[in-house]
Amino acid sequence: MAGWSTAISAARNGCKVALIESRQVLGGNGSSEVRVWAMGDFPPSDYPLSDIIEEFMDEAEVSPAPAEQFGDAKKEAVVKDEGNITLFLNQHAFAVEMEDEEIAAVHGLDTRTSEVRRFSAPLFADCTGHGWIASKAGADTQMEEGGRMGMSNMWMWGNGEEPAAFPQKDWMLSLSEKDFPFPVRFHGQWFWEAGFDQHPIDDLEKIRDWNLIAVYSAWNAMKNKGAYAERDPAEKQFANADLTWLAHIGGTRETQQVLGDVILTEEDIVEGKEFPDACVLTTWSIDLHYPNETYLKGAPDNPFISKAVHNRAVDRKVGYPIPYRCFYSRNVPNLFTAGRNISVTHEALGTVRVMKTIGMMGVVVGKAAAICTVKDSTPREVYEDYLPELKFLMTQPGEQRYETIEDLKKALGEADRAS
Ligand SMILES: Cc1cc2nc3c(=O)[nH]c(=O)nc-3n(C[C@H](O)[C@H](O)[C@H](O)COP(=O)(O)OP(=O)(O)OC[C@H]3O[C@@H](n4cnc5c(N)ncnc54)[C@H](O)[C@@H]3O)c2cc1C
Repeated sequence: MAGWSTAISAARNGCKVALIESRQVLGGNGSSEVRVWAMGDFPPSDYPLSDIIEEFMDEAEVSPAPAEQFGDAKKEAVVKDEGNITLFLNQHAFAVEMEDEEIAAVHGLDTRTSEVRRFSAPLFADCTGHGWIASKAGADTQMEEGGRMGMSNMWMWGNGEEPAAFPQKDWMLSLSEKDFPFPVRFHGQWFWEAGFDQHPIDDLEKIRDWNLIAVYSAWNAMKNKGAYAERDPAEKQFANADLTWLAHIGGTRETQQVLGDVILTEEDIVEGKEFPDACVLTTWSIDLHYPNETYLKGAPDNPFISKAVHNRAVDRKVGYPIPYRCFYSRNVPNLFTAGRNISVTHEALGTVRVMKTIGMMGVVVGKAAAICTVKDSTPREVYEDYLPELKFLMTQPGEQRYETIEDLKKALGEADRAS
């Protein structure tokens, strides 16, 4: 969400954008590969930052839901429709070239052909969720020692017309119905979550594999060992039940934070601290996840079912405005950041991490990038010297288009004269 909203916003403000995505579809956790629905609210604001997000948000009725409800094709079409964006799918950014402590270029590996491309630019935005680009560029980052929120591989099941067999395998965990919650409404939801104390990048595939083992083992318990048999209305012990989808890509919630000039904390949010560069309204509760002790017996050393603990200090009808200074690196001068890797503490991430909120971060970053281009400035200088210009652009509707930077320059000049 952060990546494509940044790209669209920058493009509509006259910037030329290369949108680099390592997977075959846009949307990250909100794509059909992971199937998280976009949450967060759009309370009244002086800044219509939600416009762009409302254009192509998912229409999922539940999470997870069938693939088509996540609108991969629509997202791609909207991006391709923007003349200023060149989209690079299946392009994993794996290296960064530095020059005078700034990022000069990012190298991308085409995951289908192994071709390596070099993308040079005056400005970069790290919207990888993991803070990949920031890490490679030597940006200051912060990762919780342990007890982070984990990764989920959600899943779906259904009852067919015919009996469906499911093989029991030696590598499966020996689970009973006490070890996992019944997958109500035919899906395994967000709380099939693991990896709390493992490294979210180095152990990423290990955590995903553990999630897959947990799901297959639970399904084996239901299909072959009579777990939850009493819930099967036809007393067929899930004879016709079949797994219809299991995410092969893990959805990560928390990796590391790229530190900016402000590191937003839980206290700031709860106490309503005011910042002069306040912009995106966060509305979700401070929602942090922990291993669920009810289901620890099945795998005490590597829990795979979580629970959420909510601090509801955020008023969702009003929201709390996140400052712009959370959206750029404090020590790599040409690096923006948007999404779940922005400059916040672990606790503050609990509220800012939902996708409608994250989309609005991208909209702000796109506009700030355009100001950097017009003024030949850094993201920090936008705060120091051009905050009125940023505020002016933030008041403009999402459909506003400046085809070129020259067009934007004229509009900013006119706004200056008018004020
Ligand atoms: C199971 C689950 C349930 C959740 N529930 C909700 C919910 O109900 N509602 C809600 O709004 N939020 C929910 N969240 C949180 C939300 O999904 C994330 O906080 C949000 O998706 C983060 O958005 P993002 O754009 O920062 O990162 P991501 O969605 O992680 O996207 C990052 C993108 O960058 C790409 N990328 C990463 N590294 C590279 C690289 N090196 N090169 C090129 N591309 C790269 C990835 O492929 C991906 O497309 C949930 C999360 C999970 C995992």
